[in-house]
Amino acid sequence: MKNNQTSAKEVLNTIGKKNIVASVFIFAFAIIIISVNFGILYKIQKDKIIERSKHNAVESAQNVERYLGTSLDTIKMASYTIECYLDSNGSQEEILDYMTRESDVITHTIDENYTGLYGYIAGDYLDGSGWVPDEDYEPTERPWYIQAMQANGEIVFVDPYLDSQTGTIMMTIGRLLGDSESVVALDLSLDRIQEITVDVIENEQDFAMVLDSSGGVVSHSNTNELGKNYLEQSNSLESTIAKEIFSSHNTEFELTYNKTKYIVFAKEIGYGWYCVSVVNGTQVFKPLNRILLASLVAILLFALMILIVLYNISSKHVVANKLSQQLESMSHIYVSMYDINLVNNTFTEISNTHDKISKMIGDSSENAKEKLYSIMEVLTSDRSKKDLLEFVDLDTIEERLGSSNTTTMEYINDRDLWCRARFVVAERDENDKIIRVLWMVEIIDDEKRKQEKLQYLSETDRMTGINNRGSGEKKIRELISGGQGGMFVLLDVDKFKSINDTFGHNTGDKVLIELANCLKKAFRANDIIMRLGGDEFAVFVPDVHNKNAGERIIERLFNTIGRADIAELNGKKFYVSVGVSFYQHNDTYDFEELYKRADSRTYESKKHTGNYVSYYESEQA
Ligand code: GH3
Ligand code: MG
Repeated sequence: MKNNQTSAKEVLNTIGKKNIVASVFIFAFAIIIISVNFGILYKIQKDKIIERSKHNAVESAQNVERYLGTSLDTIKMASYTIECYLDSNGSQEEILDYMTRESDVITHTIDENYTGLYGYIAGDYLDGSGWVPDEDYEPTERPWYIQAMQANGEIVFVDPYLDSQTGTIMMTIGRLLGDSESVVALDLSLDRIQEITVDVIENEQDFAMVLDSSGGVVSHSNTNELGKNYLEQSNSLESTIAKEIFSSHNTEFELTYNKTKYIVFAKEIGYGWYCVSVVNGTQVFKPLNRILLASLVAILLFALMILIVLYNISSKHVVANKLSQQLESMSHIYVSMYDINLVNNTFTEISNTHDKISKMIGDSSENAKEKLYSIMEVLTSDRSKKDLLEFVDLDTIEERLGSSNTTTMEYINDRDLWCRARFVVAERDENDKIIRVLWMVEIIDDEKRKQEKLQYLSETDRMTGINNRGSGEKKIRELISGGQGGMFVLLDVDKFKSINDTFGHNTGDKVLIELANCLKKAFRANDIIMRLGGDEFAVFVPDVHNKNAGERIIERLFNTIGRADIAELNGKKFYVSVGVSFYQHNDTYDFEELYKRADSRTYESKKHTGNYVSYYESEQA
């Protein structure tokens, strides 16, 4: 039913503003708690990453420094020793001999990555590893010589270069000696630094690198990057990082490149070199972000679930509330209303304003059938008792209702009031068998009386109080069509117009009323008396079939009319002309014919003065 459909607004009203606000607050609180916890976790994780990045950079810086330190010590010692030889006018052979020995020691005892000492000493190229240069080899034009000269006695790292033959990065360390023209140098491969760089990387997404003072790549966890110069290139992650480090001297920063977040830590290791560790933050935070997202989705789903459950519960409440409101409003109409369980033979009171019923029921809700029967036996008038007791028989209610859901009966109660009893099916089982019915009784006395009055008014001639033409005719038709025989008497007041004219219309009315009274007096209660209109009246007298029987009745009527005394007529009498016809039980003609026959006789009677009757005598009569 449309009325029982629940709108979202009704449901929300039932949940209540307070509850909704409380729920929203609880969910918001839960989301805040989760967000704060994740914020803390996020921060811890980030600190860890920064720490890791820092640690990687520092560790690789230390290792690189240690590695380069050996080279520095070696070059320092060599330059000192050669200076001593030069100071003591040692020969070139002595110096070469020293360099050869020292080279041997270096490669065999210190690090095989060192290729040995060489240099331009007092005008000659000397090579401790035994390498003999081509004839056109000009040592003073080599970068190691030029840069060492420029450094003016400081140890110089000559820019690393990629040895295309071996695929390794090579580097030269050199130093100008005290004579201001000799330079001692040492070549070393940077494979070890590459190893150190690769070693510090724990995660594939991360990378580390060592950049020299010019931005050149000394080492890189991705070997493809070796030999590049990041300060000379642009549009790469590394070049962006290098520029930040070299131009802004920023050694600890975050940057976003291609939508990926990186955490960078750089550690300077002297000579303008930097060990750089780069951690891919997006990758590291991905699982954390996923957990955060999953938790938020879970909370939202949970909230949605709770809302759906609340909605369902509340809409059921709304329906239940509506139903009980409907029952409540119905209970105002009904004197008593009970919910009867036919299976258990029990009942529940919905409402009752009748003290007698309450007393008779007592406290028990058992034996519904027996109690209903005995209560109605007491509370029903004798006239209605038989029918009503059949109506309240719960043993037959199922059969009587069939597939219908309600049945009613109007009856007169013990206080002579019209009532309407009603059963309404409240519940059926899956086989359509009735489980519960509502039993209700309402007082319809006013309604009934009004109805009766209306019926009376519609059937009665206002002025005389007898049947009007419509109702009288209808009753006679019903009788004769049912095979009821009888006498039909048609009366018309003689010279009524002149009564009206002489004594006035009111007196005329009185004559008509008096004539009706005469009819009521002269005929029996079950004779049908009616006013056809104007001064014309008719009576149907059942079971009078012939003139003999009719004459006595008409005589009685004329006597009654003759005794009628209307003061306004000043002793003057009124007279009627009567026509009579008979309807035999086996006749088949209709009311019109019966009327026509009587009317023809009335016409006959009009020819006589005084009360006069003429009979239409058919062959059967
Ligand atoms: P007749 O002897 O031939 O019957 O002549 P009549 O004067 O009685 O004429 P008729 O029966 O045809 O006329 C009936 C008159 O009754 C006509 C009308 O003026 C009058 N009349 C009809 N209804 C009423 C009424 O309710 N009250 C009164 N006072 N007069 C009525
Ligand atoms: Mg008349």
